[in-house]
Amino acid sequence: VVFSLFQNPSHDGAMTEIPVTDRTRIHRLPERQRTDARELHAILDTAYVAQVAFVRDGLPVVIPFSFARDGDSILIHGSSGGGIFLASPGGVDVAVGVTHLDGLVFARSLFDSSMNYRSAVIVGAARPVPNEEKEEALRVISEHLMPGRWDEVRPMTKRELAATTVLRVPLAEASVKVRDHSASEAADDGEDHRVWAGVVPLALVAGAAERSPMTAVDVALPPSVARFS
Ligand SMILES: Cc1cc2nc3c(=O)[nH]c(=O)nc-3n(C[C@H](O)[C@H](O)[C@H](O)COP(=O)(O)OP(=O)(O)OC[C@H]3O[C@@H](n4cnc5c(N)ncnc54)[C@H](O)[C@@H]3O)c2cc1C
Repeated sequence: VVFSLFQNPSHDGAMTEIPVTDRTRIHRLPERQRTDARELHAILDTAYVAQVAFVRDGLPVVIPFSFARDGDSILIHGSSGGGIFLASPGGVDVAVGVTHLDGLVFARSLFDSSMNYRSAVIVGAARPVPNEEKEEALRVISEHLMPGRWDEVRPMTKRELAATTVLRVPLAEASVKVRDHSASEAADDGEDHRVWAGVVPLALVAGAAERSPMTAVDVALPPSVARFS
């Protein structure tokens, strides 16, 4: 199953065009910059992992997180004792990167070799979601990562909720860059055509689900897992 099936239909954002700011303007190959918010949403809604960068003690750090889009913002969550969550009681400036690697481009020279990709960068302040909104925010993240699972398992306990922090980052300042050349565009660079050139597509694919041996034998595959098979 290719994860283009993976969608988040219930959280459409109001934003339709992404404004380009001094911080989000792409300089190299600017024709690859996209400003349609639907493209940004599609990149986020088909991804599981965001690389979140922030400055700690004067030094940049990048930490990967699972995440979900919620309308015109994204949500990340984790143990309240985790680094970025400790650093952010009043909010923390972040840059967030989300990338889909769609292919390796074999040009006739290494200089022209490249990748096909869709990537997004979001800059802004990550702010804690208020306690009264936290459970709903966690439901949004859960529904994005494992649709249907929220209703298949027990509710979160108060203790689990208290131990979890959720941060919200607005999508107000974001950039999207896409390289989606076909094999013929990818590598016809006027070099020696006896050298093979083209594209090897890459995609994230689900394997067969592996059942925990502790699961009672008469338990059927739940819909949240079956959708991957
Ligand atoms: C999978 C992948 C592999 C790449 N490999 C290379 C590589 O090996 N070498 C290389 O030079 N470049 C690579 N790039 C492109 C790289 O991400 C930058 O786009 C490139 O360095 C040019 O940046 P810039 O000078 O235009 O922008 P910068 O001045 O570096 O950044 C300005 C702003 O542009 C935006 N921006 C820049 N790049 C992206 C992006 N990819 N997606 C979304 N927003 C962006 C950000 O908002 C950023 O704040 C790769 C991109 C991807 C997705």
